[in-house]
Amino acid sequence: MNKPPRILVLGTGGTIAGAAGSATDAAYRPGGLALEVLVGHLAALGLVAEIVPQEVARIGSQDIGFAEWQALHAACAGALGDPAIDGVIITHGTDTAEETGFLLDLTLPTTKPVVLVGAMRPADAVGADGMRNFANAVKVASEPAAAGRGVMLVMGDAVLAARDARKAATSAIDAFRSFPRGPLARVTPAGIDWFGPPHRPKQQARYPFPQALPRVAILTAGAGMDEKPVEALLGIGCRGVVLAGMGQGNAPASVIAALSEAARSGIPVVRSTRVDEGLVDRNVEVDDDGQGLVAARALGPARARVLLMVLIANGICDAAAVQAAFDGA
Ligand code: ASP
Repeated sequence: MNKPPRILVLGTGGTIAGAAGSATDAAYRPGGLALEVLVGHLAALGLVAEIVPQEVARIGSQDIGFAEWQALHAACAGALGDPAIDGVIITHGTDTAEETGFLLDLTLPTTKPVVLVGAMRPADAVGADGMRNFANAVKVASEPAAAGRGVMLVMGDAVLAARDARKAATSAIDAFRSFPRGPLARVTPAGIDWFGPPHRPKQQARYPFPQALPRVAILTAGAGMDEKPVEALLGIGCRGVVLAGMGQGNAPASVIAALSEAARSGIPVVRSTRVDEGLVDRNVEVDDDGQGLVAARALGPARARVLLMVLIANGICDAAAVQAAFDGA
């Protein structure tokens, strides 16, 4: 008989480990349940996999930061190099799953499946989605065909690529969207339907994991604003700025002028959009060539900030090089 797949499960907390204390209460504590408890619930489902639990944190993902990211990266890198482990699952809050997923996607090799999973309802709520998502994640992480697709996010019955996934609803069960590419696969009771072959087979990490992350701020544009917020961000030592601009990454002329001045002084500035979905391309209404700015293309502000932090941490600040990284993301 074949040995069951051995899956490392790294717990960080979030609503999937959330406890309300009442099945109908709106208030709850993300990360209230220990990973051991979640894994115990999973064991009762009779899945064919050996689970190796390792708790990294028990927090709401709004509080996740460099220390947890560093621990997750080290644990994933260790598991990818360990012949006794077949895949990795990270249980994670949904608020920043987009950021953790993309950071790991940029800094890990693609040799084995690495899957983030979360839930929109606490574990003891009526109609809780966590165990279904977790069971789906085990199926994905156990499947050799899941390797070579970068870090993935399993929510509902969909498998999304971390490079494309974003949270688009605050409380709906179906909270995640994938853009510009659609989901990678659908999980069905019978198996996993992949919609295409692996797009990054056996790739090395695209960037070294940073020793520290630079301060990079997201500035949301609003009608009638002036350039003072840009000056404030530079005043607190921001090493890069992501504009969550209007429409195609637009902002009032005085704001663009201040951002352009920052770019000329060596602070990379990336124009993303406050609109939920869509591309921000170069030189549409803003003269990126003339102003020294970078267009985020398909990355929304949260993922654009992650990529910009990784680039700056690796000494990549020149506008053309930053643009090439965004074009290739
Ligand atoms: N605030 C929670 C978190 O991100 C929400 C969730 O997990 O869905 O940890």
